[in-house]
Amino acid sequence: MTSPARIQCWSGGRVVTPGGVLSPGWLRASDGRILDVGTGDPPALPAAGEAERHDLAGAWLLPGFIDLHMHGGGGHDATNSPREASQAVAYHARHGTTSTLVSLVTAPIPDLARQLRWIAELAQQAAGSHGRVLGAHLEGPFLSPLRCGAQNVQHMREPDREVFARLLHAAGGTLRSITLAPELPGAVDVVRDAVSAGVVAALGHSDATYAAACAAIDAGAGLATHLFNGMRPLHHREPGLIGAALASRIAVELINDGIHVHPAVTSMVACPPGHLALVSDAISAAGVGDGDYALGGQPVRVRDGRARLSSTGSLAGSTLTMDDAVRRAVQESGLSMEAASAAASGTPARVLGMADEVGALSPGLAADLVILDDELQIVEVVFAGRPLGAADAGGRVTTAYRESGLV
Ligand SMILES: [Zn+2]
Repeated sequence: MTSPARIQCWSGGRVVTPGGVLSPGWLRASDGRILDVGTGDPPALPAAGEAERHDLAGAWLLPGFIDLHMHGGGGHDATNSPREASQAVAYHARHGTTSTLVSLVTAPIPDLARQLRWIAELAQQAAGSHGRVLGAHLEGPFLSPLRCGAQNVQHMREPDREVFARLLHAAGGTLRSITLAPELPGAVDVVRDAVSAGVVAALGHSDATYAAACAAIDAGAGLATHLFNGMRPLHHREPGLIGAALASRIAVELINDGIHVHPAVTSMVACPPGHLALVSDAISAAGVGDGDYALGGQPVRVRDGRARLSSTGSLAGSTLTMDDAVRRAVQESGLSMEAASAAASGTPARVLGMADEVGALSPGLAADLVILDDELQIVEVVFAGRPLGAADAGGRVTTAYRESGLV
């Protein structure tokens, strides 16, 4: 006979649930899953030794963040090796990202296939000790050279159903999303193939007109990749992809780092709620500081936290982490904590069709928790019921995390 799983209880804080903020609220978890949440005093717990109590002391309790767009972090480029991908995931976990996609930039097809196989291995491992890899996001290769951003135009190509099928196969069921330019010939066919394979078709790095973007949305495209960046600007007579995404209310990513979009734009896009997905689009430089890096083999220079291609000066991903994206959404764009939390967790979970697994403080979901203080700085990150330890401002980590051997 096995003993019943230990019950964990966090209480005395502001618990952000899909139904509103419970204050003071509590959350109980067991065996890595949320049991229940409520307001006031938590139910009586078993005797000490069979229960674990945590006093939130007024702090915020949010669901772990879900990043739909992440290339690297902590000095690790996720496309270099499975080990580096894993280290980048660990870095972001300390900043609250308990589930993430790993994003691959445009590259030769054999390289992409190899990287997809690595990511599949990471995704198929039983939930690691430091955050969950939900699968891969292909940012290319079917992108527009006109809106290439920091992507290598040499490896871009027109949408091709056979190439997509090959990449889908290489990912072994772990390809979660693909960014493509809807105006390219054959794009709508690939959108249909993606959707029927359960892959999110995301629109981006595109010079699409409104009509071209709408055709892809009609075919099932469900996400816009870093809205406003890498696409034709919004014009009131030709609203392009931006207008199509906002008017059709598909989900839209924003890189809310104060560099890629103005705080007022984040505020605009967040209304009405339920469509904004905060993403990091982080590259290896996140958390490391200014210096010289690379993205997809192209040299990138980071100055004052801005990552730019050395050759063209184009913004090349970001040095953002999800906790900072949430903090800025609340403090600079005026979002409520419920709205910011939905944008960092609930909406990305829904986009991926995983809202019954992760993304909210609701019974039955993974006990992935982020505890934030009044300044919305991370106090603690809990992954599947296990505290990870948080990064402090200097990039150091708490003992629990250091003992995990991941740093
Ligand atoms: Zn990206």
